[in-house]
Amino acid sequence: MTDQIVVAIDGPAGSGKSSVSKEVARKLGFGYLDTGAAYRALAWYALDENVDTADAEAIADAATVFPYAISLDPDLYWVRVGETDVTSAIREPRVAAAVSAVARVPAVRDSVNAAFRRLIGEATAPGVVVEGRDITTVVAPDAPVRLLLTAAPEVRAARRSAELTTEDAASVAAALHQRDASDARVADFLTAAEGVTVVDSTDLDFATTVDTVLEIVRTQTGEHHGD
Ligand code: C5P
Repeated sequence: MTDQIVVAIDGPAGSGKSSVSKEVARKLGFGYLDTGAAYRALAWYALDENVDTADAEAIADAATVFPYAISLDPDLYWVRVGETDVTSAIREPRVAAAVSAVARVPAVRDSVNAAFRRLIGEATAPGVVVEGRDITTVVAPDAPVRLLLTAAPEVRAARRSAELTTEDAASVAAALHQRDASDARVADFLTAAEGVTVVDSTDLDFATTVDTVLEIVRTQTGEHHGD
């Protein structure tokens, strides 16, 4: 589809980006593309195939053959590598710890970004909410709606540790901080690029954050999606 509306949402880990993006997509009747899931699936695949995640060349090779598929339906979210459903496995701390190294490889980003553009182009919904780290700047810089969702670091760590019940808050905060620092070397996802609207959810609950994003989509597209 050519006149599709892309809502590009960037933000750091624990900003609430995934759950907010998914709910916004549901309310708008749009597709939902979680780009972090592709990087996580590649990290999972590398660990599964014993590919050294520190070996950029080996990872770049793995990215060209890795049989990855993702649902764009916000109500039926799944991620697969080949026949294996990795929807839950890619959330494991061992995958989170490996993902930045994988995502840092330029050739990986090129092939993954090409796949994202293909997936967005093939979507049948009237629009797609695409979330990640470099969506507003690299993947969809011409999107009519471009947002940066942020939250204070302590709030992000608290939200993430509420999701991961097997780990204590301090180790979640440390892992999150380390991943942010590592990711920041690839994309500046803490500063809004020109034309990108910042939504700071530090003091907003989930429903208010979703409503804030929906209001921005309506204003910036001049349309009444999700009414
Ligand atoms: O968003 P999520 O936490 O699932 O992303 C997992 C990892 O994938 C990030 O820590 C980052 O290393 C990488 N990523 C990226 N660019 C994106 C989305 C995610 O580099 N657009």
